[in-house]
Amino acid sequence: MTHIITSLCVRDRGCIDVCPVECMVPGQPINEWPWIYIDPDTCIDCGACVPECPFAAIFPEDEVPSAYTAKGGEYISNVGLTGHFEGTNHHGGKIVLDTARQLEAGEVVDFTPDIKPNYDFFKGGPGYGAKDSDDGM
Ligand code: SF4
Ligand code: SF4
Repeated sequence: MTHIITSLCVRDRGCIDVCPVECMVPGQPINEWPWIYIDPDTCIDCGACVPECPFAAIFPEDEVPSAYTAKGGEYISNVGLTGHFEGTNHHGGKIVLDTARQLEAGEVVDFTPDIKPNYDFFKGGPGYGAKDSDDGM
């Protein structure tokens, strides 16, 4: 199994610092790969990244929610969305996303479709090569 980062990820990057096997890769280009991705073949399921995420975006694969009830105001980011998100990441750098949408309170979201892109990123996608074009965002 592996841990999975869902579309609740807005690239805070705090998780990357604590991964003992360095298997988390920021997606590039951001409009196609908006999240940080976990290499399923290397992740040891230690769970260290989970409490580091201020947006609670990381789950063990078999606990990715199929019916997440939004508190309201949280952002999701995904390919095809066109909303804007700006923030400051864990390292003080700027985050700008143009693939975002703010959830409404009570909205129910299925995050299980986010599992496949985490695998695709490393199988046929940019994978660890994305680190070469990492701009810190
Ligand atoms: S800490 Fe959370 S929001 Fe930040 S990059 Fe990791 S998963 Fe994404
Ligand atoms: S569960 Fe552990 S090994 Fe897997 S991505 Fe998170 S910190 Fe890294």
